[in-house]
Amino acid sequence: MRRIDRRHRERLRSRVVNFGFTFALGALVATLLTDRVQRLPSQAAEPLPIATTGAIESPGAPPRAPAIEAAPPSMAEAIGALARRHLLIPVEGVTANRLTDTFNDSRAVGRRHDAIDIMAPRGTEVRAADDGTIAKLFTSNAGGLTIYQFDPTQTFSYYYAHLDRYVSGLAEHQPVTRGQLLGYVGSTGNASETAPHLHFAIARLGTDRAWWKGDSINPYPLLAK
Ligand SMILES: [Zn+2]
Repeated sequence: MRRIDRRHRERLRSRVVNFGFTFALGALVATLLTDRVQRLPSQAAEPLPIATTGAIESPGAPPRAPAIEAAPPSMAEAIGALARRHLLIPVEGVTANRLTDTFNDSRAVGRRHDAIDIMAPRGTEVRAADDGTIAKLFTSNAGGLTIYQFDPTQTFSYYYAHLDRYVSGLAEHQPVTRGQLLGYVGSTGNASETAPHLHFAIARLGTDRAWWKGDSINPYPLLAK
């Protein structure tokens, strides 16, 4: 009987210890869960961190290039963006109804004009059609004295040709604002001396931002609206 009693007692004690351990473990898990649940709303209220390409890399590893490059906008999207810039007719005193669409005219053999000619007396002020930067001051046989201006996003270039002269102090890399005086209408290059005008062209720049190339955009609908 004694032996049985002892065994019974030992079994009982073992159960109590097991129960105590299980209870303690349960309480710990419950505390952790409660803590977690309580913390969640405040965590969610905080702004999410901005994911960066380097965030999941080991410390010190160079950031990975983004997997998908941003696709260049389609020409229609580019023209839409340009329309929203509300370009200024770049010749002083010329109104929209005096413009003519000569973009598709042929000039040299097999070559499209890709620009519009804005007729005006020699010496008429030529003003920046948009904000931006003077990318290049260039003299060529055809264009004569010219200016290449980039828009603020460096997506487009504006080309002003046959200028009589630049405004004094005009320099490459100079920031300009819409309406700023850039130069004066003339007939330099291959323009007729008796028909001074501003040859104005717009191009969408390539990814290399080369001032001398790009896809031509007709300025007429953008200026004559
Ligand atoms: Zn022209």
